[in-house]
Amino acid sequence: MQEYKLFINGEWTGSSSGEMFEDINPATLELIGKLHKGNKEDVKNAVDAAQDSFDAWSSKPAPQRAQIVFRAARMLEVRKEELSRLMTMEMGKVLKEARGDVQEAIDMAFYAAGEGRRLTGETTPSELPDKFCMTLRRPIGVVGLITPWNFPIAIPAWKIMPALVAGNTLVFKPASDTPILSIELVKILKEAGLPNGVLNLVTGEGKTVGSEIVHNRKIRAVSFTGSLETGKWILAEAARDMKKVSLELGGKNPIIVMDDADINLAIDGIVWGAFGTTGQRCTAASRVIVHEKILPDLLERLIGRTKKLKVGNGLHEDIDIGPVINDSQIRKIAKYVDIGKNEGAKLVLGGNIIKPLPGYFFEPTIFTDVSPDMRIAQEEIFGPVVSLIRVQDIDEAIHIANSVEYGLSSSIYTGNMRYAFKAIEKIDTGITYINASTIGAEIHLPFGGIKSTGNGTREGGTTAIEEFTELKTVYFDYSGKLQKAQIDIE
Ligand code: NAP
Repeated sequence: MQEYKLFINGEWTGSSSGEMFEDINPATLELIGKLHKGNKEDVKNAVDAAQDSFDAWSSKPAPQRAQIVFRAARMLEVRKEELSRLMTMEMGKVLKEARGDVQEAIDMAFYAAGEGRRLTGETTPSELPDKFCMTLRRPIGVVGLITPWNFPIAIPAWKIMPALVAGNTLVFKPASDTPILSIELVKILKEAGLPNGVLNLVTGEGKTVGSEIVHNRKIRAVSFTGSLETGKWILAEAARDMKKVSLELGGKNPIIVMDDADINLAIDGIVWGAFGTTGQRCTAASRVIVHEKILPDLLERLIGRTKKLKVGNGLHEDIDIGPVINDSQIRKIAKYVDIGKNEGAKLVLGGNIIKPLPGYFFEPTIFTDVSPDMRIAQEEIFGPVVSLIRVQDIDEAIHIANSVEYGLSSSIYTGNMRYAFKAIEKIDTGITYINASTIGAEIHLPFGGIKSTGNGTREGGTTAIEEFTELKTVYFDYSGKLQKAQIDIE
């Protein structure tokens, strides 16, 4: 059985506690690796290594830093299939989706590498003569990265690649359910030529390793993707040291289907949005808000289509839905099905744990007669469960779309421009799709949400560079005399 160590100052190192934890394949419950369980001491060592390497790394010209990331991108391309299979075994998502996850990391690495030759600031005229004004971007320093399990390589890459190109040094804690993909990513970056200490990885529990990252005073910023509950705690704790915090949290994403929509296209989008990645995406479509005129027809066709989905081990190419990540998650999903039934929603498909299979499999589940205030329509379930809500018109649909705590992604299916533009303007989410599902972010566009989904930052696109840099404003006065802004003006 392969054993995986921590990566501190360029060395694979055993944890100071000597304790280990196990990584389980959620489809077969087989053990796929044993990992060192880091503790606070290990994080402190990792932070010291990151701090010691900061001067040299941040002084290296950005295009040269980017060159290393570029090499890593090419190595990821070469290893794409092997990493995808490993991801399906570690996390459970079906092979096609695992390939997409790795591809996202490749895309982000190439994109971030390109940023090495930009990292742009701006120049503006001064209000005074012989004076030059500009902004430039500087790295933040030692940055802590904490990631979830549902995108085991894409989310780490979304953070690591731009943060490195921007000149930061890093302490990275991956999710305990999927650490091996992160370790493979770190190995690739080391092989691509990353100097010792620039990227450090500490596996272990959120409450020890993650907590030390949040509290360590030498860490100047924390970039976190995960649940609302953990995100709130991190924001409050990090505020004590005035750390910069970036949060990408949960979602309760709606698809609106209007009476003029192409119903088959909408069903394609609902099935993909609700059951893709077994519903374990922050952008999963967990609410479908349907115009009453088409609801019976849509429901019948949706049930028919969903019944054809094959649930099983995602390594087999014909499987549509893989397992849920772990035991506590499958129990949470089952609990929400009970809550839905008790609240009076009508369960029209699924609702059960699939027993004869060894892993954590749950039936794709559809509720109808859901009212917007029910818990299944308000809270993030993070499983293959979708709730259909009936509406009379576009205004009611948008009102219900906005009636939740989260604000990540949304979608509308319609042929009517007026409805489409109303949705773009009025739905309170960071992302809106027209005639496409709620999932499918591309790495060169800003990604993130509003309300309880985040704290205003965005990943992806040039906003990824904003997340990992500080702006400096520079005034260069070459007049040779004292000039006073706001005062010496004619
Ligand atoms: P989670 O329980 O919050 O865990 C996320 C990460 O935080 C893990 O690495 C976890 O470590 C760590 N952690 C847990 N407690 C911590 C603490 N007290 N201090 C510091 N770190 C701590 O979330 P999850 O269940 O892994 O992920 C699912 C959630 O992520 C969903 O809500 C989903 O919507 C959200 N998500 C959001 C986005 C987005 O971009 N908006 C993308 C993907 C996922 P352990 O694994 O060791 O517990």
